[in-house]
Amino acid sequence: MVDREQEQLLDILHVSHMWQIRPGFDYAIHQLGVCTLRPAKLISLAQKYSIAGWVPEAVRSLLLLPFRKYTEQDICDLSFSGYLVIACAKEEIQEQRRVLAAIPPYPLDVCADNAPHCTYHTTCTRVWYDKWAKEIVPRIHHPTDHFPLSKTISALLDIDHIGMNRACKGYAIEWMISSCPGLGKEEALICKTIETIQAMFSIATAPSGW
Ligand SMILES: [Zn+2]
Repeated sequence: MVDREQEQLLDILHVSHMWQIRPGFDYAIHQLGVCTLRPAKLISLAQKYSIAGWVPEAVRSLLLLPFRKYTEQDICDLSFSGYLVIACAKEEIQEQRRVLAAIPPYPLDVCADNAPHCTYHTTCTRVWYDKWAKEIVPRIHHPTDHFPLSKTISALLDIDHIGMNRACKGYAIEWMISSCPGLGKEEALICKTIETIQAMFSIATAPSGW
């Protein structure tokens, strides 16, 4: 979409908001929502016109956008305090990702009551660690294809752990789902950041009186 069209939509948004013309306001929100507006701009517009629905995706985009690609206008739109919230969240998320990549989750207690009986468990363990290093770690550290940590379980299920007892793999995955808090921490941090930005910018769910 060309900038002129964006400007027209922003004008419609502004006027519709000022005169509380709901159809025009909803139309502008919908059209601008599919535009290529920068996420920081979406946050500042969300604040100005109380468009809470734009915040989650805008925050997710900002968390993925490398700092070197932030413009001066982005930082202006976010304000320093908003920028700081995003920066701290990015750092915490990166730490979670590094920890999960470096320390493969695996149930070491093979004597647990529900652990499968396995006479070749040394091989199972070796295969698990090997596949983690060769298949999961490169995805977590990939420079361009983002791999959400919440997809780790489905990725592990798709990997063929040749040489590993199927019951042991199932047990390891069940253990991860119930005992590996690191898997959910990334998504929890993202949700917390969305809430913080919403509160910081006082972005209400709907314009009052409409
Ligand atoms: Zn085994």
